[in-house]
Amino acid sequence: MASYDYDLFVIGGGSGGVRAARVTAGLGKRVAIAEEFRYGGTCVIRGCVPKKLYVYASQFPEHFADAAGYGWSVPKAKFDWRTLVANKEREISRLEGLYQNGVEKAGGEAFHSRAVLVDAHTVRIESEDRTVTADQILIATGGRPNPHAALPGHEHCIFSNEAFDLPELPKAIVIAGGGYIAVEFANIFHGLGVETTLVYRGMEILQRFDMDLRRMLHETMEKKGIRILCQEIFTAIDKRPDGRLDAHLSGGEVITADQVMLALGRIPNTENLGLEAAGVELGKVGEINVDKFSRTSVKNIWAIGDVTNRVQLTPVAIHEAMCFVDTAFRDNPTKPDHKTVPTAVFSQPEIGTVGLSEDEASSRFDDIEVYRAVFRPMRHTLSGREEKMLVKLIVDTDTRLVLGAHILGPDAGEMAQLLGISLKAGLTKDDFDHTMAVHPTAAEELVTMYTPSYRVRNGARDI
Ligand SMILES: Cc1cc2nc3c(=O)[nH]c(=O)nc-3n(C[C@H](O)[C@H](O)[C@H](O)COP(=O)(O)OP(=O)(O)OC[C@H]3O[C@@H](n4cnc5c(N)ncnc54)[C@H](O)[C@@H]3O)c2cc1C
Repeated sequence: MASYDYDLFVIGGGSGGVRAARVTAGLGKRVAIAEEFRYGGTCVIRGCVPKKLYVYASQFPEHFADAAGYGWSVPKAKFDWRTLVANKEREISRLEGLYQNGVEKAGGEAFHSRAVLVDAHTVRIESEDRTVTADQILIATGGRPNPHAALPGHEHCIFSNEAFDLPELPKAIVIAGGGYIAVEFANIFHGLGVETTLVYRGMEILQRFDMDLRRMLHETMEKKGIRILCQEIFTAIDKRPDGRLDAHLSGGEVITADQVMLALGRIPNTENLGLEAAGVELGKVGEINVDKFSRTSVKNIWAIGDVTNRVQLTPVAIHEAMCFVDTAFRDNPTKPDHKTVPTAVFSQPEIGTVGLSEDEASSRFDDIEVYRAVFRPMRHTLSGREEKMLVKLIVDTDTRLVLGAHILGPDAGEMAQLLGISLKAGLTKDDFDHTMAVHPTAAEELVTMYTPSYRVRNGARDI
C-alpha cells in the first residue's frame, strides 16, 4: 500500500471542513487542514454568527420603543456602528481561535494557506510552496456571493462579505435579492436607522417558503418602513460625482443611495482548485458532483458543504462532515439525510419553518388540512405594537402526519428547532393535540388549534 503524509487532507476550514478534520484527528488519524482566509469559514466570519449579532443590534430601537408601554422611560438612544463592528470582530476572532485550536488539540495540523489539488493524492500548500500527499482528500471550500458581473456598474456594489465591515453606516441602502440573506440585511439596516429599499425580480420575497409567511412578512416589513419593490431588477448602477450611487431599475425609477448591495445567490468555490487535474467532475453551476455518500467522481476525493450546492446551511455542512467521517474512517457508510431540515430567517419578525409549505404539500398530497392562527403576541399587548404572529400546521388528512410547520413572529427560529424534532420523528396532528400547552406562550398555539382552518383537496381549497 502506498504511504502518504496524511490519512486525510481537508481543503477549507469552514463549518464542514473543520468538523471533519477535528473528528477524524480525534480518531487517531493523521490529519491536515488548510484555510486560505480565516478559520471558521463563512458561518463564523461573514455569515450566520456576525449576521445574528447584527440582528440583535438592529432590534434595540423597537425594544426601546416597546418599553414605554411597560412603564419605562428610555432616554434618546444613540448608536455607534464602529463599536458594533469592533465588538463583532472580537467575538468572531474568539471563535476563529476555537475552530483552529479544536483541530490542533485533536492532533490535526492546521495550515494558513490556500491549498489546491495537484493530482488525486497530492495537494499543493501555496503559502509554503510545497506539496504533501494524502490517502483521502476532502474538499470543503464553500461558496461566495454571485458577483453579477453582467450588471453595468456591479463594481460599485457591495456583497454580504463587505456589509459586515463597512467603514461607516450608510444613510440609505438598496439591496437586490429576495432570498434570506437579502431579507435579513434589509431588516438589519432598517433597524439600525438606514433608509432601506429591497428590490426583487420575483413576485414575492423568500421563494420556497410558505406563501402565507412570505406575504405577511412582506406586509410587516413595509409597515416598519422598508420599501420593497418586487418584479423589478437593476439595469445599471452609476457612481455620482458626490460619491453616492444611482441604482437604475427596470421600471424606470432611479434610487440614490450610499451603498448598493447585491444578494443574488452564491456560487461554489471550485475555480483553480486543480479539480480537472485530479479528474473531479463538476455540475452545471460549478458545484462538485457527489454521490449519496459525498464521494466525488474520484474514489478517494470527497466534498461536503456549500461547494456541493445541496442545502446551503451550516448544520447541513456539519451533518455531511459527520457522515463523511463515518463512511471514510469508521467503516460505517452513512448517507447524509437532507429531508425535513428546519430553518429560520432572522427577519423582523422572524420566520421558523420545517417541512412542506402549503403549496408543496397540496401538490404532493390529495387531501391536506391547514391549521392556521393569526394573533397578536402577548408581548405586543402593553407595548401597543400592532404586529401579528402567524402559526400554521399542514397535515395529511389520511395519515394525520404533520407535513409542515410554519411560524412568523418572535422566537420563531427557536421554535423551529423543536418542531424539527417532532416532524423528523413523524408525529401526527393527534400527537400535537395530546400535548399539554405551555401557558402563557405564543408556541401554545401549536397544540391548541383543534379544528382545521381549511382543507385543500386535489389542489382546491374547500372550506
Ligand atoms: C450572510 C450569510 C448568512 C448566513 N446565515 C446562515 C444562518 O443563519 N444559518 C445557517 O445555517 N447558515 C447560514 N449561512 C450559510 C452558511 O454560512 C454556510 O452554509 C456554511 O458556512 C457552509 O459551510 P462550508 O464548510 O461548506 O463552507 P464555508 O463555511 O464557506 O467554508 C469554506 C472555507 O474554505 C476556504 N477556502 C476556499 N477555497 C480554499 C482553498 N483553495 N484553500 C484553502 N481554503 C479555502 C474559505 O476561505 C472558507 O473559509 C449564511 C451564509 C451567509 C453568506
